[in-house]
Amino acid sequence: LHGKLTRALRQLDNETIIDEKVLNDCLNEITRALLQSDVQFSLVRDLQINIKRTVNLGQLAHGYHKRNIIRRAVEEELCKILDSGKTSYVPKKGNASVVLFVGLQGSGKTTTCTKYAQFYRKKGFKPALVCADTFRAGAYDQLKQNAMKANVPIYGSHTESDPVQIAVEGVDSFRKKTHDLIIVDTSGRHKQEEVLFEEMRQISVATNPDLVIFVMDSSIGQATYDQALAFKQSVAVGAVIITKMDGHAKGGGALSAVAATKSPVIFIGTGEHMDDFKEFDVKPFVLRLLGMGDISGFTNKVHELVAVNQQHDFMQRLSDGNFTLRNMYQLFQSMHEMGLINEVSSMLAGLAAPKGHEKESQLKFKRFMIMMDSMTNEELDSSNPKLMNKSRILRIARGSGHRVEEMEEMMEKYKLMATIPKRRDMSAVSQNRNSQRM
Ligand code: GDP
Ligand code: MG
Repeated sequence: LHGKLTRALRQLDNETIIDEKVLNDCLNEITRALLQSDVQFSLVRDLQINIKRTVNLGQLAHGYHKRNIIRRAVEEELCKILDSGKTSYVPKKGNASVVLFVGLQGSGKTTTCTKYAQFYRKKGFKPALVCADTFRAGAYDQLKQNAMKANVPIYGSHTESDPVQIAVEGVDSFRKKTHDLIIVDTSGRHKQEEVLFEEMRQISVATNPDLVIFVMDSSIGQATYDQALAFKQSVAVGAVIITKMDGHAKGGGALSAVAATKSPVIFIGTGEHMDDFKEFDVKPFVLRLLGMGDISGFTNKVHELVAVNQQHDFMQRLSDGNFTLRNMYQLFQSMHEMGLINEVSSMLAGLAAPKGHEKESQLKFKRFMIMMDSMTNEELDSSNPKLMNKSRILRIARGSGHRVEEMEEMMEKYKLMATIPKRRDMSAVSQNRNSQRM
């Protein structure tokens, strides 16, 4: 009996060690992803401590789902930081709202304020733009050009050099013309300089804006916090817009900007064109921060993997959201045949195995495929994830000799793949590819 007991205890010991180890490995992996996404170091560290405190190791003992539980806890924490429940001022039709755009030079203010104007024009507002950037030569012409594209009137001057005066005159004149959304574009400097902040303070006092929007370039990374804080200390920043999300940056600076300004992110800029502008959505943003769903790399890989004559249909399905489980099966099969499981799976994160565990990842794909072998044609060919209800999941798991958790995990991957491509950069990649081939 004694021998049995010590053996059991030792086993328990081992279990705990394994769970701690899994937790640490997983947290380290996530930490790396977040730092690579430019999330502020101190935030990442706090997050790691919080998660360690809140994740219930006992819960993790059930094995398979450990990584998912941890990942989800991190996801929730990040969502909480980004979506604190604070809302920003929202322009109302008929009321003359004044919105002031601030940010460093090159952050995307001039482009973004025009996108913002167009967004509201399409909603039935009567927006107008004021160019209070007298610092940069050509600023007025640039805004004028943008404004023309967006079909929005503009106030500015080639000769007047006092930004405060232009701002006040512009706002007054558009008020008289009953515009209900008056947007003031300001200048920036390459660096954070006292003269810039003083100028912002004066414009803000003179125009008394309903909302000040801080525009940040997603690629500035770890510098975001200080920059955002400096603006917040000069003017009453009430919202954040992140630009250039179409680039390589994952936008982790957004967390810093939110923390520094205590304001929500309201939009993201995803390109140079007027329509490359989206309302901010926390969940997909967080998934991207965690390195999940980096779809452009994924789609490139798809092009290598899927037979040329099937590519069009495949990409179409991905971008239409008609991505079926059968499509996923075919993709896994090609990946498997070409020995590219690890390469592709790392792009879909979540699926990626940590270094040294590549075999596990390969096995997982095999198991996914075995589970899919137990599905009916209806299940394989439906692009509606809701079809896979609890009883179907249970049936397939049993029928293929797997655990329900494994089926659920696979369905989660499927949903991830089926929904992310709805982003428009997906179709852009697809178009590029097609035109290159022609
Ligand atoms: P400002 O100095 O803050 O007014 O910045 P601008 O609006 O002049 O933008 C600086 C550069 O960034 C321009 O070349 C813009 O076309 C570009 N830009 C702005 N927003 C985006 C974006 O969301 N994506 C990309 N790719 N480029 C952007
Ligand atoms: Mg500008």
